[in-house]
Amino acid sequence: MDEIKSTIFAIKRYALHDGPNIRTTIFFKGCPLSCNWCHNPEGIDFNISIITLNDRCVGCAECIATCAHKALQRSNTGISRDDRLCTLCQSCVETCPALAHEPTGWQMTTQQLLHEIQKDVPFYDQSGGGVTISGGEPLSQPEGLLALLQGCAALGIHRTVDSSAFAPTATLLRIARYTDLFLIDLKHMNTRLHRQYTGVANDLILHNLQKLAEIGRPARVRIPLIPGVNDDEINIRETGAFVARCKNVQGIDVLPYHPSATAKYKKLGLKYKGMQFTAPTQDTLSTTVDLLKNYLSDVRIGG
Ligand code: SF4
Ligand code: SF4
Repeated sequence: MDEIKSTIFAIKRYALHDGPNIRTTIFFKGCPLSCNWCHNPEGIDFNISIITLNDRCVGCAECIATCAHKALQRSNTGISRDDRLCTLCQSCVETCPALAHEPTGWQMTTQQLLHEIQKDVPFYDQSGGGVTISGGEPLSQPEGLLALLQGCAALGIHRTVDSSAFAPTATLLRIARYTDLFLIDLKHMNTRLHRQYTGVANDLILHNLQKLAEIGRPARVRIPLIPGVNDDEINIRETGAFVARCKNVQGIDVLPYHPSATAKYKKLGLKYKGMQFTAPTQDTLSTTVDLLKNYLSDVRIGG
């Protein structure tokens, strides 16, 4: 049988905000949501592509010469790629002396991922950390996720899954068997507004959180706090009340919106809908935390 491959867009070592203690975070590529404020736009598309950063290009034309599929040509803006001809062979990536061509992700087998994770075991042992699988939406690549979690479980490594919980419930429950802790994003309690800002309704997400509560799988809920979107008292109170009913939830992390992803969108040539938002003030953060503490004692700012 062919070994399972997962599509990845980043691996972060010594991560301090993706679960308990020091962690290695694996970012699975592809997400069914399209949150306006997403700070990992390279993780939205399930497909790998090659982007060209023309501000790095020195005009040597090596890439055009090396492309066997004639997918590259000069244009007014620099080097342009015909995606219909490009086979993602990455010859241009390897050839360019200016590192102007970059893949937006890559594929790794479960064994390759486990090999990378095992390099950091001394940090897990010292700190009580482990591995976090994030994204994108890791539940959207369930076979690769499951195999990776099973591999980590066999090695005795603590496993956190950072997810929107937007996936078939059966998939979530299968993954839950090998997950020590879930970090679940809860973006809005109003399903119409949830759809408006993320592209999907919240019914399945809320249902799945309740299912995790029923099986008692530990979770923390994360609220990306975006002024004007979800920081109003009604939404915060409804979120707190809902979370308080989920007895598996250990605490709430309030994640203040920040516009730091602007450069990533520019690099990918994508429009950043998050430009319309501003970071919450200290007053807004304090008010939000105080409101949530009416429902759960463990409320923190940041992950
Ligand atoms: S190889 Fe790199 S520097 Fe040379 S033309 Fe192509 S993109 Fe520009
Ligand atoms: S990835 Fe390969 S096929 Fe695509 S543009 Fe680069 S060299 Fe050509």
